[in-house]
Amino acid sequence: FRHGEPSEVVVSTPNGFVPFGEHHPLVTIAGPCSVENEEMIVYTAQRVKAAGAKFLRGGAYKPRTSPYAFQGHGESALNLLIAARDATGLGIITEVMDTADLDKVAAVADIVQVGARNMQNFPLLKKVGAQDKPVFLKRGMSATIEEWLMAAEYIMAAGNPNVILCERGIRGFDRQYARNTLDLSVIPVLRSLTHLPIAIDPSHGTGKAEYVPSMAMAAIAAGTDSLMIEVHPNPAKALSDGPQSLTPERFDSLMQELAVVGKAM
Ligand code: PEP
Ligand code: MN
Repeated sequence: FRHGEPSEVVVSTPNGFVPFGEHHPLVTIAGPCSVENEEMIVYTAQRVKAAGAKFLRGGAYKPRTSPYAFQGHGESALNLLIAARDATGLGIITEVMDTADLDKVAAVADIVQVGARNMQNFPLLKKVGAQDKPVFLKRGMSATIEEWLMAAEYIMAAGNPNVILCERGIRGFDRQYARNTLDLSVIPVLRSLTHLPIAIDPSHGTGKAEYVPSMAMAAIAAGTDSLMIEVHPNPAKALSDGPQSLTPERFDSLMQELAVVGKAM
């Protein structure tokens, strides 16, 4: 697979161009699992920006296990992401689940996320490959590396070379203490197989806020190019993924700890 130099994915944001890649500083993406209301998303954006994040994450369309769980505020949440971007200049990353929503999502997002559950949704991969926004491709929860790289290939074959690969934990045999098994060995493995930038999501990878900082540090030590971390102003009241979300205070202290571990930020 691998040939030549590592590629860089350069993303345009209101605060300037942000490059992802092996030869660039670590890029941190942070924010809540779901966009809940204007106040919380703007406040979280301000806090994660102050801590050093370059992108705000927040789901408008949520892939929930139960159809009775909060499904995201959809289009109105996209407008709230615009408000948060206007307030901070942060780049926006948000998930698209349905080809029918792609134009709306891509009009707002600086990076379009394809979630773990859609990693092999081939019509969606082809469609995100046929538009220009960079794509954040999460690893399917039981996808092999080969399947994941082929999913990236679908996007690139459709014309979009700007793909970032994000490990978010795979399904192991023991979910009692951690939601998933965060496969940090993909960092050196992907380095040997592909030129694409690599991101690690220790929030979905562990499912518990208390485990996120050590896995974030380990990911940097192993050479990740980017981190995605869930941050919520009041995790106990979050509409999704509260248990794995850091408070803004904890995120801020983590960013200071990460700066010590390595890769210039
Ligand atoms: C998310 O980023 O909130 C999400 C749903 O992630 P994943 O697709 O990795 O479960
Ligand atoms: Mn989440």
